[in-house]
Amino acid sequence: YCPTGAIAIKTHMNEAWEALADPNIRVVAQIAPAVRVAVGDHYGLTKGKSVMGKIVNALHRMGFDEVYDTSFSADLTIMEESAEFLDRIKKGEKLPLLTSCCPAWVKFITDQYKEYIPNLSTCRSPQGMLSAVIKEYFRDPEHAGGRKTVMISIMPCTAKKAEAVRPNSFTDGEQDTDIVITTTELLRMIDNFGLDFATLEPEACDMPFGFGSGGGVIFGVTGGVTEAVLRRLTPDHSKETMHEIAECGVRGDEGIKEFTVPYEGMNLNICVASGLANARTVMEQVKNGEKEYHLIEIMACRRGCIMGGGQPTRSGDRTKALRAKGLYNADNTTIIKKSDENPLVLELYNGLLKGKEHHLLHNDSY
Ligand code: SF4
Repeated sequence: YCPTGAIAIKTHMNEAWEALADPNIRVVAQIAPAVRVAVGDHYGLTKGKSVMGKIVNALHRMGFDEVYDTSFSADLTIMEESAEFLDRIKKGEKLPLLTSCCPAWVKFITDQYKEYIPNLSTCRSPQGMLSAVIKEYFRDPEHAGGRKTVMISIMPCTAKKAEAVRPNSFTDGEQDTDIVITTTELLRMIDNFGLDFATLEPEACDMPFGFGSGGGVIFGVTGGVTEAVLRRLTPDHSKETMHEIAECGVRGDEGIKEFTVPYEGMNLNICVASGLANARTVMEQVKNGEKEYHLIEIMACRRGCIMGGGQPTRSGDRTKALRAKGLYNADNTTIIKKSDENPLVLELYNGLLKGKEHHLLHNDSY
């Protein structure tokens, strides 16, 4: 801590413990994709390996009533953002489409490139979408069971704390995500609770929002959003096609990646960048007319959320590479690769979301 108090680090662990101690509150967690590959090595487990099942077990023991996977709502983001992308291409307007799932990048555009605000996708981030859907689900008295719902999201960065309290991310004027805990705060809570994390058995997330496709899981690494969009755009489900997409230039460690993919007789020019210095380079080139893209994906942190500011520090090159590999491995072992094949997502569209898609999944303004 800063000895003079000039720098105050705001944590939200106390608010989380208070909610967990209140029997009149249903405490619901969502866990972002990047968190699962940054926790294990703190407990001497294999670096970069997903320990999602152990995290779920730990949260259940700490008193969380329901534990859901933000990869599920990453699938919702892909469904909505792909539709928005195709609509803009058809109309030839508001291109390039700028992704909107990183709040630090959204703030960068809204503060410094205001003329490109209309280009931002109107999609809420996966955190915002899942919290809105969960709050709507528990509005039903049968689901609520007489208890108030407090939504706690476990995220790789503090920018998500700022996003949660941004009024234009609310639904009907109400905050959807009540408390945001970073990965490092989660580690402190697990340690304070006295759990022997390494020996915990893995547990599954709860239903009905506990499963994400492989496309949803790779959101945590730079290029993951774009790769999931490309999977969604292709009608082909074969392993060969998934492999071709992975090899098209979307993966890799470079700060700025550019590539072109064919789509229905067109060539889609795509740029994927991470780190705000790289974002500035990309935006200056677009503004000066040096570059023309259909889609730009930016993550404010280099390499994406796996290296977010709320993740455990002291991460050398090996850690960075292993966290990315951990998410790609989680995708490899997930039987459903595409967001539009996630049966829970399809069920949601046919049920709770019907007629409320825009209301719960999009921002009306930035
Ligand atoms: Fe947060 Fe960084 Fe991920 Fe953006 S890229 S959502 S700032 S962790």
